[in-house]
Amino acid sequence: NSILEYLTNAKFQPVGGVISGGMAGILDLHLKTATTWLFYVIKQDFSFVHLPSLNSSRLKELYSQSLEASHYLDNNTNLILQEARLKPATNSYVKPRFPLHSKQISHIHLENATLLMLCRNWELPEVLKSMRSMEDKFNRDYHYPWVFLNDVNFTGDFISQTTNMATGPTSYGLIPENDWNTPDSINKTRYAECLKDYIKNDVIYGGSRSYRNMCRFNSGFFFRQDLLLSYDYYFRVEPGIEYFCDFQMDPFRLMKDNGKKYGFVISLLEYPDTIPTLWDTVEDFLHEHPEYQNTDSAVDFITTKEPIGPKTVVSTTDSPYNMCHFWSNFEIGDLNFFRSKEYLDYFNYLSQNGGFYYERWGDAPVHSIAASLLLNKDEIMHFEDIGYTHTPFFTFPDSLSMRSGKRCLVPEGEKNIDILAHSCLPRWWRYGSGKRFMREY
Ligand code: GDP
Ligand code: MN
Repeated sequence: NSILEYLTNAKFQPVGGVISGGMAGILDLHLKTATTWLFYVIKQDFSFVHLPSLNSSRLKELYSQSLEASHYLDNNTNLILQEARLKPATNSYVKPRFPLHSKQISHIHLENATLLMLCRNWELPEVLKSMRSMEDKFNRDYHYPWVFLNDVNFTGDFISQTTNMATGPTSYGLIPENDWNTPDSINKTRYAECLKDYIKNDVIYGGSRSYRNMCRFNSGFFFRQDLLLSYDYYFRVEPGIEYFCDFQMDPFRLMKDNGKKYGFVISLLEYPDTIPTLWDTVEDFLHEHPEYQNTDSAVDFITTKEPIGPKTVVSTTDSPYNMCHFWSNFEIGDLNFFRSKEYLDYFNYLSQNGGFYYERWGDAPVHSIAASLLLNKDEIMHFEDIGYTHTPFFTFPDSLSMRSGKRCLVPEGEKNIDILAHSCLPRWWRYGSGKRFMREY
């Protein structure tokens, strides 16, 4: 009854019925945003989950038919409602996990976006660590959904533990074999020889076949997985990472409002041994499609003849590609950029070359080169004050007042990579879209 009271007093019209102790409803937020229709499940502790974004005409249709929400849920989502089925705490010392007040709910404005993690079942402890950090520093104020992808099925344990850690709905996708496995066009003997050479030369992940499948998947297939098709933006999260500061903003909304299509925090130099012919292949592609290069691109950021960085990582080839790339374990991106004809043509051209296998092309240089050639340089965004680590590098605001205001806990003794020799960030400031502070947006 208190839920009903709550819903009646809140500023939206719920429809639908009671599902096992939870309440399903469509929140019509059109007063605020004119177009946003969201589908929610209100749980007994007043926390809520919103379902992966639905096509708004379908929602309006549902809304007008007042279709039984429980029926809709049963048939259309794999949402796990364990939580909703739990009895509310009778002990008044126990607080609900994510209390919601009507004040907060009327301020919700979500973009059509999801948090995204590709990972393996055995990485669960590190996955939970990343999720905890993401939820605490950002998502517990928004409840964006999570999408998990894997080349094998996720275990029940993985699903239930990540569902409990998330403050938004979770969904789990199995990657189709053709999107993951090494294509038949790759010559098996030549591939095996290349792997041997890479092992001999001690190149990181040089001997790994699965790593190569992963890099090709992340270069050309993640954005076309079924579970991502309805979204416009993704935020890539990897196991074992950490964010150091309160976000104090919705990065998806910032990207959308400012027309940004690719966001990064760290930029550094790639190992030249992993991509001996990548740039040549890109140049061949550009000869075929000179019209694809943006007239105001960030090409000067990724090309140079002057040596940069410590001598050991400078390319010995005379490639004009300077090895600068956005570190792709952190990415906030516009999925429609990756789904564009230009990007798909680019990916297919690279893929046909075989370099994902005969060499060890990473998705980071592949994404970075595409963003730096195909986008306007102002469509690329450096998130300067999120504070982030993925082994072995750290980035965080150097300003003490910024750290204090954003409640950053920066690990002691760690160096900020931003202006170290192997960082490309100063180059981004100079040749990319310049240095801007977050408060200027
Ligand atoms: P690194 O960051 O380059 O050291 O490589 P990671 O091992 O972190 O891999 C990058 C991302 O791909 C992480 O999110 C991994 O969980 C994921 N990943 C790597 N290999 C596989 C794989 O074989 N299967 C699946 N499902 N995920 C993988
Ligand atoms: Mn990683």
